[in-house]
Amino acid sequence: MSLIEALTKLAEDLERAKPKPFDPRPRFENGRYRDCKWCQGRGCVSCKIEADKEYARQFPSGPQPIATFDMTNEADIERAKKVIGRDAIEKAFGPNGGGVQEIIDNAKANPPLND
Ligand SMILES: [Zn+2]
Repeated sequence: MSLIEALTKLAEDLERAKPKPFDPRPRFENGRYRDCKWCQGRGCVSCKIEADKEYARQFPSGPQPIATFDMTNEADIERAKKVIGRDAIEKAFGPNGGGVQEIIDNAKANPPLND
């Protein structure tokens, strides 16, 4: 990697690290990528490439489950109830709930039994 490439990558990483205000537009729709560095979401030949690059950066291993459960194992069923059971869902998405992050935290607090 040349110095210019390294500096360009650093500048892009710093730009991405900035907190962005919520954007209600879909991330990628009708060939338009809302965060395209070339057209800023108006739509161009690079939108798909830029969207795929950002997806690969954020999810290098592809989509991963938040948690998995063995529904044939009684102890794992109990763990599933703690993480994604009715009470957990109602608490997370009810008043003052933490939403999806609370479910992720539930999963971290109740790791798979065989790990
Ligand atoms: Zn574009």
